[in-house]
Amino acid sequence: MTFAAAGLYLHVPFCQSRCVYCDFYSTTCGPAERGRYVEALCRELEARADEVPGRRLATVYLGGGTPSQLSPAELERVFSAVGRLFRLAPDAEVTLEANPDDLTPAYVEALRALPVNRVSLGVQTFCDARLRLLHRRHTGREAVEAVERLAAAGFDNLSVDLIYGLPGQTLDEWDDDLVRALALPVCHLSAYALIYEEGTALWQMRQRGEVREADDELSLAMFERLMDRATAAGFIHYEISNFARPGWRARHNSSYWTGAPYVGCGPGAHSFDGRSTRRRNLPDLAAYTALSPRVPMEEEHLTPDEQFNDYILTALRTADGLSLDALGVRFGLGARAEVERTARRHVAGGRLSLADDRLRLTRRGLFVSDDVMSDFMRV
Ligand code: SF4
Repeated sequence: MTFAAAGLYLHVPFCQSRCVYCDFYSTTCGPAERGRYVEALCRELEARADEVPGRRLATVYLGGGTPSQLSPAELERVFSAVGRLFRLAPDAEVTLEANPDDLTPAYVEALRALPVNRVSLGVQTFCDARLRLLHRRHTGREAVEAVERLAAAGFDNLSVDLIYGLPGQTLDEWDDDLVRALALPVCHLSAYALIYEEGTALWQMRQRGEVREADDELSLAMFERLMDRATAAGFIHYEISNFARPGWRARHNSSYWTGAPYVGCGPGAHSFDGRSTRRRNLPDLAAYTALSPRVPMEEEHLTPDEQFNDYILTALRTADGLSLDALGVRFGLGARAEVERTARRHVAGGRLSLADDRLRLTRRGLFVSDDVMSDFMRV
């Protein structure tokens, strides 16, 4: 398949240890495997570079796993392949996901010499007891120091990830996490409700009765506190789980929510052609390093109904909302009428607003967003 893509995602499948809640694809292994992975990644990039029209990139995102597990020399090798194969836009957003414990002074200094201009830190919480429960490797203090170190080194585009609804976490404790995160020199905040993914260690802990899920009332109160604290601090709530200071939205992630195409390389990486074809590299590091650039992958061709559902789901997640005009152009006037019909009762109920031809979740709607969006789905 050929993409009209301007976003490149690189999946780095390594973690120093596994967090109990995580179901992302990653493994724990040593420098030899990392070296083989980097060479395999460079081969895949070379083979797939022409999927990016004009080989021009507006965003590059290193996600994982833990990209900060790559050494500066390994990152340098990856960026030198990217620089040789593509033309980065002058204002390209280049994000590295990082864990606080990897961000030593030497590592941060080395990052400055690379094209990375945005760092997204997995903080999750500042509470050390909860961090230990989650098997995170850093303390709350270390997370603060990592952000301050990055800022002092000149990184002005910093994001932190938090999780709420942790086992035993109270509303006051969550409030404390928010206050501490928003006091940091960051311009972006992502906050997710904890999910008990089947098969994870956390899921098994719940099965054994060792931890209890936060109840709905507490989760909603935490979400409400998140919105109140972030907006009071000057952040814009631009996607259900994402907040940014004006002008600092995550551009790469925004392309996922606007249905823009992107190319994903590395084991477990996803790609999308912006219309109907998704590709997933199989999450198998050994096969990937052995076979790249003939990367084991599967392709999924979305039916028209699946494309419609995806379009609605992603657009309604954002503060920009769903443009009825754009929907009509893409799916036809019948689809537009169908959406207008379904929207009517939610607009009347105060869960959606309709202005400038756009449907948007209201504050009330944000609390029941799954229910609202599922009403539009074609089955
Ligand atoms: S949460 Fe991040 S660091 Fe933890 S196991 Fe998952 S990918 Fe690795």
